[in-house]
Amino acid sequence: MNFFAPVLDRIKKQSPSYDMERIVRAYEYARDAHEGQKRFSGEPYIIHPVAVVDILLDYNPDEEMIIAALLHDVSEDTDRTLVQIEAEFGPKVAYMVQGLEKLSKVRSRIDEPYAENLRRMFVHMAADFRIIIIKLCDRLHNMSTLEYVKPHKQERIATETLDVYVPIAARLGIYNLKSKLEDLCFEFLEPEHYENVKEQLSSYSRMTDPLILDIKKTLTKCLAGGGFKKFKVEARLKSLYSIHVKLSRKSLSSVDEIYDIFAMRIILQDQKKDGREYTGHLYEALGVIHGMWAPLQQRFKDYIAVPKPNGYRSLHTTVVGLGPKSRNQPTEIQIRTESMHGEAERGVASHWLYGETGGATAGMDAEEIRNSSKFGERLGWVKALNSLQEEVSNNEEFIDDLHRDIFHRRIFVLTPAGDVQDLPAGATPIDFAYAVHSEVGNHCAMAKVNDAIVPLDYELQNGNVVEIITRDNAEPNQYWLSFVKTSSAKSKIKGWFRSNADPQKILREGREILNKHLEQISKAPLDADLQLLKNYGGCKLTLKDREELLRDIGRGMLYPNVVIKTLFPAEELLRSRSRIIEIKKKKQDKKKAIEEVGKNEVVVDGYTDFPIKMATCCQPNPGDAIIGYITRGRGVTVHKKACKVINNRKTERLIAAHWRKDVAAPTYRVSLEVVMQDRIGLLSDISCLTSQMGINITKMALNEATNSTFIFREFEVAIKDYDQLARLIQKIQEVPNVKSVKKLD
Ligand code: MN
Repeated sequence: MNFFAPVLDRIKKQSPSYDMERIVRAYEYARDAHEGQKRFSGEPYIIHPVAVVDILLDYNPDEEMIIAALLHDVSEDTDRTLVQIEAEFGPKVAYMVQGLEKLSKVRSRIDEPYAENLRRMFVHMAADFRIIIIKLCDRLHNMSTLEYVKPHKQERIATETLDVYVPIAARLGIYNLKSKLEDLCFEFLEPEHYENVKEQLSSYSRMTDPLILDIKKTLTKCLAGGGFKKFKVEARLKSLYSIHVKLSRKSLSSVDEIYDIFAMRIILQDQKKDGREYTGHLYEALGVIHGMWAPLQQRFKDYIAVPKPNGYRSLHTTVVGLGPKSRNQPTEIQIRTESMHGEAERGVASHWLYGETGGATAGMDAEEIRNSSKFGERLGWVKALNSLQEEVSNNEEFIDDLHRDIFHRRIFVLTPAGDVQDLPAGATPIDFAYAVHSEVGNHCAMAKVNDAIVPLDYELQNGNVVEIITRDNAEPNQYWLSFVKTSSAKSKIKGWFRSNADPQKILREGREILNKHLEQISKAPLDADLQLLKNYGGCKLTLKDREELLRDIGRGMLYPNVVIKTLFPAEELLRSRSRIIEIKKKKQDKKKAIEEVGKNEVVVDGYTDFPIKMATCCQPNPGDAIIGYITRGRGVTVHKKACKVINNRKTERLIAAHWRKDVAAPTYRVSLEVVMQDRIGLLSDISCLTSQMGINITKMALNEATNSTFIFREFEVAIKDYDQLARLIQKIQEVPNVKSVKKLD
């Protein structure tokens, strides 16, 4: 049986220029793919995609949308793949089908407070209006066949529809879809109220139908008398759900108490003057009506001069005395043109392939449609998306981000069950694990993204499906702290180290971590009584203190980089020996040079014109933490914060100072030794990595090679500070086939 024939007839009538052969081919493709599958209702599955197209036809779909709607469940529910769909119907269709498939993964749970995240996720992942519209039509058909779904699922789906789909439809201005969805949700979520309102409304309608007919006649006569020839007069009835909302908001019990259960609508023809839209006749009609019946001043609204944020345009007025003499209730009248009416019913969907745009958007891709000026005039993609986001979010920070750039700073990822996690860009599986639950984070052993195993510091991408594999014996690792992006993951990891770990083990770990860092800079490892830590940052540490310091490292409370920087001066950390010789040669000129440099490069607590002198005792370099010391009659001397000389001075003479932001920190040339097992692409991996970190390689020569082991001894990089160096060493170490990396002394 050809379920498609009546729908195809509609397409032919509505859009005769479409490639019918291609559309029929899509139908047959979907029918064959779904062969043997049944809906919950027991009907053949193909009924569903066909019904979705039937709904979609009210929203001026282009050819690609019709085909995508026919195929929307194919790649997910059958053995046909996206690749096959692309080969058969082209990349645009495949792109939309893929988007629809992604959206079907966005699922809510009844107990979750994340409706807002879901809405954001939904709009973001769709990335294309057309996908959203198809998805809304899909949901409308699923809602209208919800009675066949198991009862416990009904509630979840209806709640999700009300929380996610309805606000999106409203924001996109697709009101007829919105109220259909709403009424269906109402029916399943509050069956008693639904029946009550429905009953009341039908008895109300029996009463008011003749009245409405009467008012229609009166208005028609009035307008014809005013010289209007072509127009329509309609009545619009409030939807069941909005009646319910109004009843409960105003604590009313009967629909009779609601004045605007019905409103009259006058739809006039579009008019143009000098090639531009003309709306004068709408105000003329308004004048004619106000001439006959008295308007309620405060109820007049001009949404043409000031459209609603979603682009809705119309004139609204409420008049008294319309209808039979016995009737003293006011009547709302809406006046609009045909295209305004189309926009009001179909929202953004009325903008493509419609009216003056006439089919010009057929064959344009989503990007082009978004950018096309006609489409963008009143309801451009970005504008609609912005206002949608503003409505769904009360979070000011979020709106700020949005204004800066839409969504680039947040990513949305999914659990395998389809739950959404909203994370900052750059977040890793560990951030995700802790966002799901502390225990998941604390026992995270492995992570999979889209079913493939990834490193725990993998940078998650929007729409990734992330699965965390936990093991009872897995524990947080201090290294995690160096890459997690969320502060909550950070504090949970630190918390774990504080409370869970065995002090001996923590001590061992701290020692190992520090030794590893020492080795990286060609320093001897710690000895048994930790001599190296005896003098730490100007303090003498007892053995107990030294061990506590290592435990702090082990717990992740203290970064090994900080310890290294406290133990060794920057020069020692960053300069290789050959370089130090070079500096010694220039030593005579150094003092003068420093003084001159200082004047322009240091800002002292907001003052710009302070006479500034660089201290000769500690010789601060750009990038060092510095502090100013007010000298008698000589202005300010700038010292390193750690300078011992300054630490003995009177504190009230110290003044905050910092390096000007535009002063580029000097770079040090640091030689690294990299030992690695050869493989194809290894060198390019390393050079890619350095350039991603913004580090220049100043020399790169292979020095030794035995069998398949290679050693770089002349791998020289330009480094800003020790932190950057430590990060680089860490990253190179993670490159497959790299055996060890250290800085040469
Ligand atoms: Mn579907």
